[in-house]
Parts: sequence; structure tokens; C-alpha cells
Amino acid sequence: MRKQPAAVDAAIARSLADARPVSYWLDQPDAPEPLPALAGTTTADLAIVGGGFTGLWTALLAKERDPSCDVVLLEGKSAGHAASGRNGGFCSASLTHGIANGMERFPHEMPLLERLGEENLGAMAETVAGYGIDCDFQLTGELSVATANWQLDGAAEAVATARDLGYDATLLDQDGIRGELDSPAYVGGIVHRNRNALVDPARLAWGLRRACLDLGVRIHEHTTVREVSGNGPGLLLRAGYGAVRARSVALGTGAFTSALVRRVGNWIVPVWDYVLMTEPLSAQQLASLGWTHRRGASDMGNQFHYFRLTRDNRVLWGGYDAVYYNGGQRGDDYASSPATHLKLAEHFFTMFPQLEGLRFTHAWGGVIDTCSRFSAFFGTAHRGKLAYAAGYTGLGVGATRFAAQVILDLLEGADTERTRLTLARSKPVPFPPEPLRSVVIQATRASIARADRNEGKRDLWLRTLDRLGLGFDS
Ligand SMILES: Cc1cc2nc3c(=O)[nH]c(=O)nc-3n(C[C@H](O)[C@H](O)[C@H](O)COP(=O)(O)OP(=O)(O)OC[C@H]3O[C@@H](n4cnc5c(N)ncnc54)[C@H](O)[C@@H]3O)c2cc1C
Repeated sequence: MRKQPAAVDAAIARSLADARPVSYWLDQPDAPEPLPALAGTTTADLAIVGGGFTGLWTALLAKERDPSCDVVLLEGKSAGHAASGRNGGFCSASLTHGIANGMERFPHEMPLLERLGEENLGAMAETVAGYGIDCDFQLTGELSVATANWQLDGAAEAVATARDLGYDATLLDQDGIRGELDSPAYVGGIVHRNRNALVDPARLAWGLRRACLDLGVRIHEHTTVREVSGNGPGLLLRAGYGAVRARSVALGTGAFTSALVRRVGNWIVPVWDYVLMTEPLSAQQLASLGWTHRRGASDMGNQFHYFRLTRDNRVLWGGYDAVYYNGGQRGDDYASSPATHLKLAEHFFTMFPQLEGLRFTHAWGGVIDTCSRFSAFFGTAHRGKLAYAAGYTGLGVGATRFAAQVILDLLEGADTERTRLTLARSKPVPFPPEPLRSVVIQATRASIARADRNEGKRDLWLRTLDRLGLGFDS
């Protein structure tokens, strides 16, 4: 059941009245024209399903590894239309959904994971520059802001751990954080000056798509793959009006992966995350924020907002509610949620009262492939001829490039530093089947909200999940 908005504040409602229900990033006048759908039967060395970041990076890197590899990419709608074109554009070096989560799940591997993540982010920057991708990629660093003192419990230790792992991180008091970004709500925070970038995600997807085409990748959009099956020494992919016979197959199908490899449905749940974009700020409004280094930011509650500036000085404001619709709804009917958008708008003006009167131009949602360990997992099917990556939860913009390398390593049967990682070899704890799945997830969401109202105190349910190494996040 979707929640209906309760009593609505008129000023908040007005701020949203003209918001277009589509991703701001995808709603740009120079969005590329769709490429023709697959028609008839073709062959390829490597067939890739999905034109989000995972699929596009896999195609690009396959061509960079071996220019003679014949690659075809099939996308059900248009490249970047799903999570990859709807996200916040926070591009982190972290492969583990942040340091704290990584330390909890892969403590011994973290120095290596952080090195690989930093190299991955550096390689992304090189690709963007090398192919001339105009996606506003900027190594801004990142802020974590506390709006209540309890959120700073453990912050000094978190900074020490981050520094040990090579981050240029500092704990900030109230004046320090308000010197980075000014809100009367802030009591302190953390600044990470390195290993985090901001990007226009749709432009990154479109730029990768262009680079793939230039290297000879054949891309077909509006081509949904219905089935992958064995076909002699290779595999057969059936799609609407065509088919591909391929030696190997890579899936970058995000929250939709279980449609092609059923068992993946045990490990991921589709979680909806919602976002607002404001109109461009005037010079005076921008000055009132004092957003000195234009770093992307998030607040430190369990239910957190993430926020950032765009090239033309709009503010993107998203997160907080991470909604699981019972039964695991993935359809685009859920991309608009007035109740959550109103809540986000209300929180925005509480955080930045100096922006009263500002209006939102876009309000949208996207589906996240959440797994219980919050970081991507990898697998193969059809006797190693198909490989996939999924489960990035809310931090896949950077990690998808790394995942593409793992996918290609797995398809080559290569033994690499990447394939030896516990991160690459292990799977998350599965979610229970429905209807228990919905009951467990909704109970967890309610407990998380209660913890935020109760100075961060985790109830018995959350403590039990913590002990079992299980979680729910966006
Ligand atoms: C609202 C929101 C905010 C986020 N914010 C951030 C952020 O700031 N930073 C960050 O790091 N991460 C963020 N994320 C997560 C990040 O966007 C994802 O982890 C990442 O984009 C995943 O890319 P992907 O290619 O694996 O999946 P997707 O982008 O979902 O792409 C999968 C593609 O596969 C296609 N497909 C699926 N099934 C088929 C089929 N059978 N046949 C053909 N095509 C198929 C789909 O149409 C889709 O285009 C956010 C996600 C959302 C939704």
C-alpha cells in the first residue's frame, strides 16, 4: 500500500506544484536519440544485458581489454534510464558502501579494498578525461553533517579509521561544519577531502554509451531480454524481435536481475529512493549557504538525506525514506511518491530556512538493488558462461566500474587480485521469501525510524540484526 499525504502545508505543497515527475538528469534537451531495437538474429563474442553503469562499463572495458572482441549491448529502455540516470551523482571510491560498513564486513580486506577503490576512482577520472565525457566530474570530497549530538557518538573513532585507510578526514565542530555549509540545524560533522567526486550521472551514462559506440560496440535500446538459455558452446538471448547467440553473457540488470537469474532474487530487494531538484539558486541564495568547497553532503541519522549542488547551482535533495513496497514492486508507477516528496520538501526548508520560497523543478524516484550487506556481490551461471554483479545498494556510481572488471575477470576465468577478494567470492545473507520478507523489512524500517527519534538508541530487533550482520538501507 502506498501512503497518501496527510495534512499538507500549503507553502510546502506550492514549492512542489510545478515539479516534473522525471529525473532532472535525464530531462536534458540534448539527451541522445534512442538506438534501434534488435531485429533478427545476430552473433557476438560478448552479449551484455543492461545499459546502466554496470553494463556500459563492462562493454567499454571489454573493448579496452581486447579491441577485437565483438560486443553487443541490449537495453530494455534507454541507456541510463534506471538507477544510473536517477541517482545523486555521488561518486565514491568506496566499494563497500562506506568505511563503517566495510570495516564491519570485510575488516581484513579493507586496506586492499580501499586501494582498489581509489585506483578505480582514478581510472574513472582518466576515462572521463580521455574520452572527453562532459559530465561535470569533480573531485570535491564529501561532508557528513550531524543535526543532533548523538549522531557524533563514535565520530572521532570513525575519523581515525578513515585516516588509517588513507582518507584526508577531519572532525569538525559546529563552526567548522557551518563554515563548509551553513544550516542552523548543524551541530558538527566530518569532512572527507579526498576519494569522493560528484558527477552528472546521466551525462556520464550517455558519454560511456558514446565511447562504446565509437569503439564498435553494437547497442540496441528498447530491447528487453526475456530469456537466456544454453546454445551449444555458447548462450542464446531471446528479446522481442531478435536474438543473440553469444560466447558469453554479462548481466548489468540491477534490481531486475532475478528475471534472468532467478536465484539472485534471494539476495536483493527493490528499494525505492526519492529525490528533489530545486530551481537554480540566485547569487544571494547561494551565498546564504556558504557552500565553500561545493562538497556533496549527507546527514548522519540512520535515515539520512543526501544533497549537493549542480553545475548551474541547483540543490539536489534526496533520501530519507527508503521504501519497500510489499511484494517487491519495481514498476515505474512507483517512481512518484507525493507523500515522500512532501516530506523531503518539508525537511529541506527546515534544514535551509534561508531558502524559503525556492521551488522544486523535478521530483522523482528510482529503484535500488539493496542487499543485506549493502555492497555488490558477484556470481556466474550457465557453467561460467554468464556473469553478473548486483546489490550495490545506494553506492554504485563508482563501484559499478570495479564490478565490470570483476565480471570480465570471471568470464575469462582469470585468477586476479579482484576475484580472490572475499567481497567477490561471498554472497550476502539472503532475505526470507514473501510474505515474511515484507514483514521483516517493514519492521526494520519502523525500528530504524524509532532509533532516529530516540537519540539513535537501537531496539532489540536492530541489535539482533546487527549481531547477525544483517541490515536494510538505501
Ligand atoms: C534515487 C537513487 C539515488 C542514488 N544515489 C546514488 C549516489 O548518489 N551515489 C551512488 O554511488 N549510488 C547511488 N545510487 C545507486 C546507483 O545509482 C546504482 O548503484 C547504479 O546506478 C547501478 O547501476 P546498474 O547499471 O547496475 O543498474 P541500473 O542503472 O538500474 O541499470 C540496469 C539496466 O538494465 C536494464 N535491464 C534490466 N533488465 C533488462 C532486460 N531483461 N533486458 C534488457 N535490459 C534490462 C534496465 O532497463 C536498466 O537500464 C542511487 C540510486 C537511486 C535509485
